[in-house]
Amino acid sequence: VLDQHGAVLLDQPDDGTGGRPEVLRGDLRRILINSLPGEMIQWGHKVTSVRPLGDSRHELTFADGPTVTTGLLVGADGAWSRVRPLLSDAKPEYVGTSFIETYLYDADQRHPAAAKATGDGSLFAVPAGKGILGHREAHAVLHTYVALTKPQEWIAAILASPETAAAQVAAEFTGWAPELTALITDGETALAPRPISALPIGHRWDRVPGVTLLGDAAHLMSPFAGEGANLAMFDGAELGKAIAAHSDDIEAALAEYEQALFARSARFAAESDKNHQLIFGDNAPAGLLNLLTGQEPTE
Ligand SMILES: Cc1cc2nc3c(=O)[nH]c(=O)nc-3n(C[C@H](O)[C@H](O)[C@H](O)COP(=O)(O)OP(=O)(O)OC[C@H]3O[C@@H](n4cnc5c(N)ncnc54)[C@H](O)[C@@H]3O)c2cc1C
Repeated sequence: VLDQHGAVLLDQPDDGTGGRPEVLRGDLRRILINSLPGEMIQWGHKVTSVRPLGDSRHELTFADGPTVTTGLLVGADGAWSRVRPLLSDAKPEYVGTSFIETYLYDADQRHPAAAKATGDGSLFAVPAGKGILGHREAHAVLHTYVALTKPQEWIAAILASPETAAAQVAAEFTGWAPELTALITDGETALAPRPISALPIGHRWDRVPGVTLLGDAAHLMSPFAGEGANLAMFDGAELGKAIAAHSDDIEAALAEYEQALFARSARFAAESDKNHQLIFGDNAPAGLLNLLTGQEPTE
């Protein structure tokens, strides 16, 4: 954790226990896909609508034309799920903070100051309301998230002009240490908006025969507990176990799965929300320091 001048406020070295492992999205995706039989995933079929047919069945229509009737429909289709409206009227809402993402490559050779500031793991430089987050990834890649508490329209307007976008985003950090703003201005990929949205904490639904949700479709939350991908995979495993345990009664399996899902997701959604306030609220960066050192927040 650094302040805006690059001074170290907290340095927590890796303790070597492998207790909180990291994996790149692309690698994780490859591992999961390679674990499945070849034809199990049918690529290139975007669901455009879902319609209840009664008797636990649903009809999916795909953009490329065909329709499918399901016996069991699992909506694992992320934040803007097409399946979720079958179960719930809830819609994700913008939490007020957006990330803006870019990457720096061959960092040790070409961006040594930014690489040194980022260190071997994660960097947070987060005074109240905004910040620069850096992460060192495999092959000397630096991954930047600029965090700004701004309306989505403001971010979209700035990023609409790619030739001036980096300078305008960096202008939000005037006076900051150059090794920190370099994580923006030396970015080698077009700045990408990542608005953070969340479903209501405690999102749940009444049992609807033949359909359920998992992952972000069920419990989209801000990424500040760092659990979104973990939960999505865990949900899938738990659903599989529930179906295996009640293979002659799918409704019993879904009821059992959902009761545990609701309690689990509410806990992590509340934690994400709390961490969002701690990291970006008025008490920053003390809130983040307390979070990382396990101390009680000082209000
Ligand atoms: C900026 C940011 C940073 C994050 N960082 C982390 C992190 O460091 N660690 C972490 O654990 N989590 C992180 N998360 C959260 C994490 O990305 C999600 O929680 C996780 O990807 C959820 O997995 P999922 O499978 O439920 O949904 P997704 O990963 O969104 O997958 C949904 C899938 O459904 C498909 N799909 C969607 N709509 C349709 C349709 N109509 N038809 C067909 N297919 C469709 C999509 O193509 C996609 O393949 C972050 C999120 C954000 C926004």
